[in-house]
Amino acid sequence: MNHYASLSLDLDNQWSYMKTHGDAGWQSHPSYLDAVVPRILAFLAERRLTITFFIVGQDAALEKNHTALRSIAAAGHEIGNHSFRHEPWLHRYTEAELDQELRQAEDAIENATGVRTRGFRGPGFSLSEGTLETLARRGYEFDATVFPNLLNPLARAYLFSTSKLTDEEKEQRSALFGTWKDALRPVRPFQWRLKGGNLLEIPVTTLPGFKVPMHLSYLVYLAKYSRPVANAYFRFALAICRLTGTQPSILLHPLDFMGGEDCPELAFFPGMGITRERKLAIVSDLFGILSAKHETITMGEHARRAAAARYALPTLAPVFPN
Ligand SMILES: [Zn+2]
Repeated sequence: MNHYASLSLDLDNQWSYMKTHGDAGWQSHPSYLDAVVPRILAFLAERRLTITFFIVGQDAALEKNHTALRSIAAAGHEIGNHSFRHEPWLHRYTEAELDQELRQAEDAIENATGVRTRGFRGPGFSLSEGTLETLARRGYEFDATVFPNLLNPLARAYLFSTSKLTDEEKEQRSALFGTWKDALRPVRPFQWRLKGGNLLEIPVTTLPGFKVPMHLSYLVYLAKYSRPVANAYFRFALAICRLTGTQPSILLHPLDFMGGEDCPELAFFPGMGITRERKLAIVSDLFGILSAKHETITMGEHARRAAAARYALPTLAPVFPN
């Protein structure tokens, strides 16, 4: 069997982390894109990898980010929609607000990169029936928000413990990273059964059967304590994927390519207590492990391959208990 893995990077910017964390100053939209995007593109080019970047509309709406964003499309990478305002409480929007949010992001991203987006990932893994219906109505090919991860509540508790968020702000972020119930969802692609037809879902892969994370930031976090353990865990996780016929979708973030010296404001984030040089060495190992036994593709290509076998895919009703 041919094993493949899709790679996608959520292009969360400095301000969106500060906003989620409740830090002052995010409103001026501080950006590290000019520093980190060229580094990521060089890293991918060295390995001849083409991936999917989920871009935040607000970044695309700002002239100061256009050079960085244009360079992603110019390098041949795929572009997806990561919402306009990057609010992890997107699932509380009305359908009219969702429509406006998606359209605003599509227009800004198209203006900056020349690309109309066909794939979506919600901010902070926020998802609702309304979001799915809106995506289907707007002609999206796939959603990539589902993150069936048992450790989601731990990640949220950790972030809250490092923040100065008020009780009200914590309530607003109560579904940040998802709840343990998200772990009940499938790890493999499936279809949402919606009013206007079906929509393909490509979940962020977690360890099949165990539902614990295997995205890059988690592996980097493990590597902070032991690189051999992180590498062995990733090899094990990919072997389980191959054994269970799961073609993984691996999630990346800009912070996977940044050291503590690149953005002292984000020192609260796990894995940011490492130097850039060490971080890139860790990530390079992990990419080597992935590429050894897997063809790497974009999310769009993953969606096309899954859609070609759509009659074999399970269909789920869009039930959101939280
Ligand atoms: Zn994000």
